[in-house]
Amino acid sequence: MKTSNVKAFGTIAADADLKEMSIERREVTAKDIEIEILYCGVCHSDLHTARNDWGGSVYPVVPGHEIVGRVTKVGNEVTKLKVGDLAGVGCLVDSCRECNSCDHDLEQYCLNGFTGTYNGHDKHLGGHTFGGYSQKVVVDEHFVLKIPTNLNLAAVAPLLCAGITTWSPLRHWKVGKGSKVAVVGLGGLGHMAIKLAKGLGADVTLFSRSEGKVKDGKELGADNVVISTDAEQMKSVLGKFDLIIDTVPYAHDVNPYVATLAISGTLVLVGYLGDLDPMLNTVPMIMGRRAVAASVIGGIAETQEMLDFCGEHNIVSEIEIINMQDINTAYERMLKSDVRYRFVIDMDSLKK
Ligand code: NAP
Ligand code: ZN
Ligand code: ZN
Repeated sequence: MKTSNVKAFGTIAADADLKEMSIERREVTAKDIEIEILYCGVCHSDLHTARNDWGGSVYPVVPGHEIVGRVTKVGNEVTKLKVGDLAGVGCLVDSCRECNSCDHDLEQYCLNGFTGTYNGHDKHLGGHTFGGYSQKVVVDEHFVLKIPTNLNLAAVAPLLCAGITTWSPLRHWKVGKGSKVAVVGLGGLGHMAIKLAKGLGADVTLFSRSEGKVKDGKELGADNVVISTDAEQMKSVLGKFDLIIDTVPYAHDVNPYVATLAISGTLVLVGYLGDLDPMLNTVPMIMGRRAVAASVIGGIAETQEMLDFCGEHNIVSEIEIINMQDINTAYERMLKSDVRYRFVIDMDSLKK
């Protein structure tokens, strides 16, 4: 298969910094779209994968799954977009397209495993996929999103992961006017959860460890901010929420949040992958039909629905634009919860 080399930024080991490297992109096949990447958001999952936090990372890792750019080439059977259009790519670049999940627009739950935008198995070139910290990407049109043209393009990038990951549970649990929603952790996912839940008409509370984020939480639309380390404040919201979206990336005690669920309420974990420590106490769950669930990103149709909703409601991410060369410092700041509220890489910086 014909390929070309493009500049990218990635890492060769869990304990190495990210640096410039060259990767291969395939020539477009009949259904492919080639996109010049203009901006790419920086997700905490990029950091987890670069540093092999979850195990199973294959090196070199080129992260990045919040991609927006412009179409530069299309295969001869492509109908979704044309050269010059804006385009987006999120966390998925392929799936089996024939299992029950794929048939129901749930490619993220493909029974044969979806292909991640990075560190997935590359069905075309063999080896593994490389993400959006690069100059261009080639993706089957089914997995390419249309971008609303009325929004700030750089601030749209984080919608492709942080946006859809919080939108999907909001929609699945039917959040709307009158719903009481809480969000745990004010980072990339957390701030999008607040904006999207407000957009859907919910009453929204933020749980944060950081006193310094109270003002921001309110400015982002939260009706209430609860400092999770303050027992009195936690007590004031016992039994209140229909849905809690928990975005905390590391093992933490979920029990105090379960206690703030209303009868039949659900806490959805989207941040942490692994064993809970301490474990879940089932008493408040059984005595109140409360559930603890989890969710991964969202399907392509649902991602398009979210992007269109954001276009209509003028919703974008709060961003800090960085150069590609600043990525290692950005990761360190992310580890200190010092991101307000998403880094977005200006891919022009990779040309230098
Ligand atoms: P982020 O921007 O770093 O935000 C995480 C926030 O969680 C922080 O700002 C902080 O908020 C809080 N936090 C951090 N460490 C904590 C700790 N040890 N204990 C309690 N709270 C803590 O990260 P993100 O990009 O939003 O991603 C969040 C997690 O979601 C990551 O693990 C990422 O891999 C995962 N993720 C999952 C999916 C999915 O499909 N399920 C998709 C994307 C990302 P406060 O300062 O307000 O406390
Ligand atoms: Zn992500
Ligand atoms: Zn499938």
